[in-house]
Amino acid sequence: MPGKSMSTMIDADPIADLLPDLITLRRDLHAHPELAYAEERTAGIVGASLRLLGLEVEEGIGGTGVVGRLCLGSSTKTVGLRADMDALPMVELGRMPYQSRHPGVHHGCGHDGHVAMLIGAARELARRRDFDGTVNFIFQPAEEGKGGARKMIEDGLFERFPCDRVFALHNWPELPEGSAQTRPGAIMAAADRFDITIRSQGGHAAQPQRTSDAILAASQLIGQLHTIISRRVDPVESAVLSVTRVSGGHSHNVLPAEVLITGTVRTFDPAIQDAIETAIRDMVQGIAISFGVSTEVQYDRYYPATVNTPEEAAIALHAAELAGLKASEAPQGAFTSEDFAFMLQKKPGAYLWLGQGRTHGSAAQPLHSPHYDFNDDVLGRGVSWLCAVARLALHR
Ligand SMILES: [Zn+2]
Ligand SMILES: [Zn+2]
Repeated sequence: MPGKSMSTMIDADPIADLLPDLITLRRDLHAHPELAYAEERTAGIVGASLRLLGLEVEEGIGGTGVVGRLCLGSSTKTVGLRADMDALPMVELGRMPYQSRHPGVHHGCGHDGHVAMLIGAARELARRRDFDGTVNFIFQPAEEGKGGARKMIEDGLFERFPCDRVFALHNWPELPEGSAQTRPGAIMAAADRFDITIRSQGGHAAQPQRTSDAILAASQLIGQLHTIISRRVDPVESAVLSVTRVSGGHSHNVLPAEVLITGTVRTFDPAIQDAIETAIRDMVQGIAISFGVSTEVQYDRYYPATVNTPEEAAIALHAAELAGLKASEAPQGAFTSEDFAFMLQKKPGAYLWLGQGRTHGSAAQPLHSPHYDFNDDVLGRGVSWLCAVARLALHR
């Protein structure tokens, strides 16, 4: 940076001295990914790091969850900052020196970066001591479909560590590095899973008149399910229904007695979620009558929509500006889901997308790609955002 002294550079990025260590930590976590509720090594590193800073630390919350508490001054205000720790059950195909050493487990969602950034924020806030109140650093297990946030809440998270507000971020490859977005209202969708079983007596393929045909019933049903979004949901609203698995039959000459259909529904609005579940059940009932099969529907609403409160979304965007990020309101939510939603059902708060797309070098891979690797160039801005959002939330 010609014409700028080293001291100016350090002023411009006050956490620059923390970065080499955070990059080493992030890559170590990447090399040692752990699945949902098995984040023993990661939780151990988190607990030890927070204790070194002099924080009060509790471990084993909701399984492998860890919370560190940092109290300063006399204010009774409290804020929670959350990172998720788990990796995905998938094979990593990247070939960097710190690639996964655990076969079939990969930090394909960048949670290694989330853990490193929240530890960085604890280090920065613990040494600057420039806030008044309590910051709770919440490291949760099992975000990837296993509801670790809900488990921590059920284990008394907010009674043991009261939080007036909660904030979290996710690294976001679709946005360029140096930028961040969030929005008031829904930012991530509710995720539901349906499992439909269609049963008949089964029979000989050459005697279709002697049984009901579960395969044909299933194929008709799949076609009908895909009319729900286009015909039963207001066109100005957004929703997704995808059938993702069909199984039934073993042979060319047997009509099977059972066919299973599995899929997912994603919505932002609970009324639309209700309408889609009702429509699925209606259609399955209709198929049962018209094909003479028996049916069973299991419908599991496993993650609610992630809904930001307006004031906290504004705090999150302001903090992004203070952290030197190009901050803007997201035009719409994403259809992926997030179990921070459970925390936002209990507390006001907001969830931020931290731009991750590289401006130089290889293009950013999508989340959950076998080549995914968190972009270490955004660690510093992420740490700065976490610190800024905590200071702002406690100041209001
Ligand atoms: Zn993920
Ligand atoms: Zn994730």
